Amino acid sequence: MTLHIAFDNSYARLPDRFYVRQAPVPVAEPRLLALNEPLARDLGLDPAALGSPEGIAMLAGNAVPEGAEPLAQAYAGHQFGGWNPQLGDGRAILLGEVVDQSGQRRDIQLKGAGRTPFSRMGDGRAWVGPVLREFVVSEAMHAMGVPTTRALSAVATGETIRRERAYPGAVLARVASSHIRVGTFQYFYARNDMEALVALTEHVLQRHYPGVEGAMGLLRAVVDRQARLVAQWMSLGFIHGVMNTDNMAVSGETIDYGPCAFMDAYHPDTVFSSIDAYGRYAYRQQPQVAAWNLAQLATALLPLMGNEAAIPEATEVVQGLAGIYAEEWTRRFAAKLGLDPADPDVQPLATRLLDQMAATWADFTLTFRALAEDGEVPADLAAQPAFQDWRRDWEAKSPDRDAMRAANPAIIPRNHRVEAMIQAAVAGDLAPLDELREALARPFDSDSRFDHLRVPPQEEERVVQTFCGT
Ligand code: AMP
Ligand code: MG
Repeated sequence: MTLHIAFDNSYARLPDRFYVRQAPVPVAEPRLLALNEPLARDLGLDPAALGSPEGIAMLAGNAVPEGAEPLAQAYAGHQFGGWNPQLGDGRAILLGEVVDQSGQRRDIQLKGAGRTPFSRMGDGRAWVGPVLREFVVSEAMHAMGVPTTRALSAVATGETIRRERAYPGAVLARVASSHIRVGTFQYFYARNDMEALVALTEHVLQRHYPGVEGAMGLLRAVVDRQARLVAQWMSLGFIHGVMNTDNMAVSGETIDYGPCAFMDAYHPDTVFSSIDAYGRYAYRQQPQVAAWNLAQLATALLPLMGNEAAIPEATEVVQGLAGIYAEEWTRRFAAKLGLDPADPDVQPLATRLLDQMAATWADFTLTFRALAEDGEVPADLAAQPAFQDWRRDWEAKSPDRDAMRAANPAIIPRNHRVEAMIQAAVAGDLAPLDELREALARPFDSDSRFDHLRVPPQEEERVVQTFCGT
């Protein structure tokens, strides 16, 4: 079976200093763990060919398909607020771009594909755990309607990866509308490379924001998408975990699933990442962090906007994130509560409910889905007089339960399930992976086969941290 991919690599046509040409480093013994057949078809790729030995060799980085121009992208970034002028793809290789069935340009990138000139001390590899976590969580996000990078495949490498201990290696094939980050702009700004900033801005406008003009227009457009993206995360209880500027895509897609997680028990101060000691990227911080990151984008674009003279307008654009975020948040929570988004009571009603949920550590997903299904909310919450008052006020609005079921997932990739799936996969059992994939493809359905996946973790099952040891 031959694999034909019609690559058209626009990033590789940008100036040399945007990347380093670098082929993936072959792995010992590729074995397919997961293949996303619907996504393959969207990309115009034949799933059977991708699943053949030739296809798997490509997905592992052992064979470079015709038309690919593999490269590692250069970027910089603020990591936990600290500036790093030189990051770049240390373990990811962009194979190339394809134009999908709907005319959208998509990157195909291999993550865990070996060392590159940007690897610094790293081994260029990934292990099965984070690869399957990203596969499952990013696909679940997509199924919930959240803009996100996608997962095309996960391939075990047959090699051992050293982290806190030894783990089996894997390569993820990731698909994105691009992998251009806030940090990509910062990289050229820091080098005072105006020519590159101009070329990058034009590339991004053409690729992601056709019709938008100029650096100020780009900033405005990115602020709008990020404000809406983060509001959507918040409405699902999603915590990204590492919102560094190099992990924020200018396309507005969620990118770089590391120590990310969906909250079980609701509390706005929740943090998962083991490396986030000060809670910089806690749930409640996410909108402010988005604005902080976009202020860095504004800074990087300033030379194209007229320097000092542009500061007042650029500042206003970045500060405008709060208003767009608030509007989108209200729209999302109105849907979650089955209310009219124009009803001025939405915001206070949603806030009262969330306050009661936080006070009782009510499970986020379960509570909203119970309200949608007219079922029982968690007992500690139900027992609160303030919640009973809230429920009366809310029911008086005759909430639309059908709309609620379409806005409140029954199934999310709960952290304890993801961890158990990873442990099973490491032990050679892919059944939990396959089950999670099937259930999460339809997260808003009430499918009794998957009722067990709705259940929050028992005390001893709770995963309180996810590790960045990716
Ligand atoms: P991340 O935390 O995955 O967003 O990565 C931050 C930076 O570290 C990026 O430049 C990555 O390419 C690089 N990096 C992360 N893990 C590795 C690794 N195992 N080998 C080489 N570079 C890595
Ligand atoms: Mg990253």
